This record gives sequence, C-alpha cells and structure tokens, in this order.
Amino acid sequence: MLLPLPLAGPYDYLVPADMSVSVGDFVSVPLGKRDVKGVVWGNSSYKVSDKKIKKINALLDIPPMAEDLRKLVDWTASYTLSQPGSVLRMSMSVPSALEPLKNRTGYLPALDSSEEKGDSRIKMTKARQRVLDSLAKDQPMVAAELAKSAGVSTSVIRSMANAGLLKPVTIEQKLKLEMPDWEQQGPVLSPSQAAAASALVKKVGKLVDEGSDTGFSVTLLDGVTGSGKTEVYFEAIASTIAAGRQVLVLLPEIALTTQWLERFAARFGVYPLKWHSGLTVSERRLIWRATLSDKASVLVGARSALFLPFSSLGLIVVDEEHDGSFKQDDGVCYNARDMAVVRARLGSFPIVLSTATPSLETFVNVQAGRYQSLTLPERHGSASLPEITAIDMRIEPMAPQSWIAPTLQDAMLASLKASEQIMLFLNRRGYAPLTLCRKCGYRLQCPNCTAWLVEHRLKRNLSCHHCGYSMEPPEVCPECATPETLTACGPGVERLAEEVAERFPQARFEIMASDTMQNPNAALALVRRMQNREIDILIGTQVMAKGYHFPYLTLVGVVDADLGLSGGDLRAAERTFQLLHQVAGRAGRAERPGRVLLQSYRPYDPVMKALVSGTRDQFLSAEAEERERHGMPPFGRLAAIIVSGSDYQEVEKAARALGRTAPSENGVFVLGPAPAPLSILRGRHRYRLLLKAHRNINVRTKLRHWLSQVRVDRGVRIQVDVDPYSFL
Ligand code: ADP
Ligand code: ZN
Repeated sequence: MLLPLPLAGPYDYLVPADMSVSVGDFVSVPLGKRDVKGVVWGNSSYKVSDKKIKKINALLDIPPMAEDLRKLVDWTASYTLSQPGSVLRMSMSVPSALEPLKNRTGYLPALDSSEEKGDSRIKMTKARQRVLDSLAKDQPMVAAELAKSAGVSTSVIRSMANAGLLKPVTIEQKLKLEMPDWEQQGPVLSPSQAAAASALVKKVGKLVDEGSDTGFSVTLLDGVTGSGKTEVYFEAIASTIAAGRQVLVLLPEIALTTQWLERFAARFGVYPLKWHSGLTVSERRLIWRATLSDKASVLVGARSALFLPFSSLGLIVVDEEHDGSFKQDDGVCYNARDMAVVRARLGSFPIVLSTATPSLETFVNVQAGRYQSLTLPERHGSASLPEITAIDMRIEPMAPQSWIAPTLQDAMLASLKASEQIMLFLNRRGYAPLTLCRKCGYRLQCPNCTAWLVEHRLKRNLSCHHCGYSMEPPEVCPECATPETLTACGPGVERLAEEVAERFPQARFEIMASDTMQNPNAALALVRRMQNREIDILIGTQVMAKGYHFPYLTLVGVVDADLGLSGGDLRAAERTFQLLHQVAGRAGRAERPGRVLLQSYRPYDPVMKALVSGTRDQFLSAEAEERERHGMPPFGRLAAIIVSGSDYQEVEKAARALGRTAPSENGVFVLGPAPAPLSILRGRHRYRLLLKAHRNINVRTKLRHWLSQVRVDRGVRIQVDVDPYSFL
C-alpha cells in the first residue's frame, strides 16, 4: 500500500476476508490513530506475523489508478531520489476528491402566483424581496451564493426557507463534460502542414493497430514561429479522441493562454478542461475525478497536470517544450517534459514535443535518432519570418537615464506612422532592479534573502522576487538616514514605460508582466485590446513572448538583449537564444512584414549572431559540441545537492560532512561545498554541492550511497536536484 506521505516506501496491510482489492485500487487504511487514503501498490513480499499488520478499512468507490501512472510514480521517485509517497502525493493532490461527491442543497422560489406572495401571513421584507429578485426560476443557487448575490446574510435565506418562500432542491455536483467534436473539419492545411499532420495521425493510429507492439513514439514538431504547429497537432488530438483515448496538452503559463483555448474551442466546438494553480478546490476535485473516469477527453495544464490520474491517456503534447517552467526545482525536482516522455513510454502511446527552438537535449535526441522530427520550415500563408538586426549599443549615442536607442526610436516612429503595433521587450518586472543610496552606497536588500529589493512604482512598494517580502519605499536611507539620496538604478518595464510616455506622447501603451495582470481575465482583456489595435506599444516581460498572434504587430524591440547572458549558467546562451527567438517570432505574423531590433553591447556574441543570421542549427550544434567537450548535459550528468537551514553553523557543518564523504572515483567530480549564490533564501542559509559524472555512471546509486553516509541535524534539509536547471 503506497500512502501519499513522505515515507520510505509502501506499507503492508491485510485485506479483510470480505473484501477483494486489486493493484491500483484506492483504499483507506489506519495509520497510527489516523485514517489515511492510499493506493494498493502490489502484493507484499514480507512475512510478518498476521497480528502485527493492520487491516484495510475500506475500498473506495472510485476507479483504480492506471498502471502507467503507478509506474510513473515509482519511476519519478527513483529518478529524482524522492520518496515514492511524495510523488504519489502530487498525483493525489486533491484529497477531497476521494470523498464521495456530496450533492448540495440549492434554493428556488417556492411561490408562483402573486396572490400567494401577497398572503398576509408571510412577511415580505426588502431583504427577502432582493433574494427573490436574485433568483431565476430554474437556476437553483446554494445559500451562500444566493446570500452573496442578494447582499443579505445566510440567515435570511434560512428563514425564508422555513417560511415557505424558498424551496430546497438538490444540485448535483458534476462537471459539464462535452465531447470535443473531432469530426469537424480543421482549416485546409498547406502541403508541409498536411504531411506533418498525417505523420502524427499515423503514430496515433498505432494506438489501435493490433499489429504494433507499442504505440510509443517521441516526435519533435519543429516549426518556425507562425508555421501552424498548433493546427498540425490539433489533427493528432482529433484522431486520439476518435480512438476513444484521452489527451493531455502541457503548456507553460497556463493562466495566460487565452488565445490557445479559443482556438481549441473554434476547432472542436467546446473548451478543454484546464488545470492550473488558479482553480478552486471544488473545481479541482471535479476535474481530478473526471480524468480518473475517462470522461475528460482533453485537458490542458501546467506541469503538475502530468500526474493527474488519467485512466486512458493516449497522447501527450508538450507545447514550447524548451520552456524552463516545465522544470520544478522545489520538493520533488522533476522536469515535466522528460517525465511526460516517460509516461508515454510506460503507457505505450505517442508524445509530441512542439517548439520553434528545441532544447539542446531534444536537439541531441533527434540527431541521435532517439526522437523523430517533423519540420515546418515556413510561416503560414503569405507571412514571412521577420528580419532581425542587432543595434550595437557600444556606438549608439545614448542620452543619460534612457534605454531606447536612437535607431530603435526611429524604427518605432516609422511603425507608429504606418499605424502598426510595436512590442518592447525587457525581461525585468517593476520599475528598477536596484535602489542605491547616492551618499553612503547602501543597497536596499531583502531581510530574508540574498537579493536586492525591486522597486514597483505602480504598487508603491519595494519587493523581493524570491520570497515576496515587500515594504513601502523609505523616505530616508535606512543606513545613513539622509533624505532624498535613494536612487533607482537600471530599468524595469515600468521605467521603460515612463520613457515611452515621454518620447511618444501620442502613442497608447500598456505594460504586460506577470504582476501587472492580476488574473486570467485581466490578461484576456489586455490581449483583446492588443488584437483590436487599441494599443500601439506593448511593453512587457517574457509572459508576452509566448504564442500570441497579433497580425498588426510588425516591430519588436529588445531593450537589453544581453540580460540573460551573464551569470555563467550552463544554459544561459541556449535560454537567451530561445527567449529572444520566441519574442522575435511575434513580429510580422500576417501580411505585413516584421522587423526585430536587438539592443546589445555584445553583437559579436554567438547568440546574437545566430539570431541575426537565422542559423539556429549551427548555433545548437556549436553549443552541443561545447557541452560535449566539457562533459556537460546531455553528454554528462549533473546533480545538485542543496543544504539549507535556519542555523548557519549547522548548515555549514552538514555541507562540510557531505564534502568529506563525497564519492571519489574515475569519472565522478564533486564541486563544493560552497555557499550558494542565493546564500540566504526565505531566511534559510544555503550551501551547494554539484556532482558531475560521465554519462555511463549511475549517478543515482552514487548519490544514494553518498547521502546515506551523512547524518544531519534536525532542521537541516538536504535537497537533491537531478538534472538541475537552476544553479542559484
Ligand atoms: P505556431 O504555433 O507554429 O507559431 P500557429 O499554429 O499559431 O503557429 O499558427 C499561426 C497562425 O496561422 C494562426 O493564426 C493560425 O490560425 C494560422 N494558421 C496556421 N495554419 C493555418 C491553415 N492551414 N489555415 C488557416 N490558418 C492557419
Ligand atoms: Zn526575499
């Protein structure tokens, strides 16, 4: 029995004589004094005298967990060195979904005729009248909802029910699940789109083809921005639904993908289910149950959707597969893209990785023949790829405290004149990344983290982007107490907007960043205004780079193209290329041709050169060679160990102990221990070690052995991150 708790492994329980359970069944069992719910994981191999083990309490009345998911839980736990129960908990993330779905009581108006309402025995107050006014005849509402919409307390509702003014009815708890209409025709595909679509449909066909031993395949859908990758994989989705199997689409930033959802609805007649952090608990439990029962045919979600209990998954699509948000580096450190490939293999079904800028890992897998690849080399219709130019910032005459170079400004003026739209990209939220005292040099820092406080002028605060700490802007320097010496250093999007307002007083501009859009509706409204050309200049961070299609957007200006290159991160160059390519891809997606200007102090950098000359594959090959030469992933293996705790001495002691017992043998190198660049995070001190190993070494065995030798004080946490993406 596996329980969704951080325990070393499955626990043994007896099956009562009058109960019959199978592997995968959800059951409730006693644990100490508690009653917990878990999954039957297999037959016990132990011989424990029957008296010692407890009995299963009950078999839950819900369908079992599918085999591919159970295997995925074990696989992920082993790969990430996590407790299987901690991974299972990601799968059983909605505990209330295991309870029977209780129907709720709603209310309808009880009396029809106005005579009855005029009955003098029933007292009609203004509040009661408001309640009746808020209720439609055939749409029952639960007490809390009704009270809220009428602006009364729930006791008014209760008293009205007692007086016979409202009649209680049962509201069934269920999701409206409509079948996507897969028979509906999509758009007419271009020859290269049609070829890619039919190749994917063929792979889906193996799901039902009895002659094939496995339906598993990994396909990279490699198409330039605007080539119609979505339309192509929609065809694969249609045939998976036709085959009676479920589809999971993983998207980065699910809360912001309004255009995607609308395209799906236009193609299939219904919206897909959505899984993201903004859902209420009751929405979550209904969706969780729906995936378990195979009634949910298509679900889109962020990375955590991978662990939903789909009962008959038949296709996974990972859109923007290169995106870093698929990696979780807290708790169970897993990469949802890689684990999605594992789930497809375990479930013997196809997976599609879609992107215009493949990750280096995927690129190498295609070259080695492990993944297949389908290419869409052109933009759809008459659209062409934008022309990308670097502005050499070393020779641009920049005015002090300004960030828009004259060359970019000229291009912007020309676009505004032609009534076209502009996107200004700067991957930095807020007003300024650093606030400094001009007199004493003091820098405003987070009290809980090794990080500067970022000024957000619109919200009138300074905040930490790591822990969320925020404070009001101080009047005087906290160090030397001199008034008016605090100075904003460097630009964020808010400051850039200030410059835009100054230079282009007639232009309508808006900011698009994760903190300026409070909810999906605000994001949707902003996208609409952009689509309707109510915005001339859109200023934003990377949330703006993803997938949007604005036909009149013809100029993209990247204000600081070098921003991501510093820091010496393993993937800095790769990530910068992907991000800037993605942003550039927003320009000229319809008839009007697009232009992209990159402001850079390093126009000679291979990343800038590859962007300007459009030589993606040469760039990736050179990166791959570089990594291979240094034995870095995907050619070598990396695992990070992060030691953290609130007591510095204890953390250092544990880190040193790990350093002393580090494996020393051919092909294994351990760097550290050293204080992490982010040496304090949320009040916890942090040390890092990095294990680097040859590809053919089993790092997990090494790590397990290594960690088992070190005892650490309580309060010190050791986190293992296999294939780390973050080195902070
Ligand atoms: P990508 O995901 O590759 O960037 P999209 O799938 O978003 O490209 O397609 C870009 C635009 O072109 C979208 O507006 C899409 O609806 C349109 N489009 C692509 N292929 C077709 C087609 N065959 N017929 C009509 N419109 C298409
Ligand atoms: Zn902080």
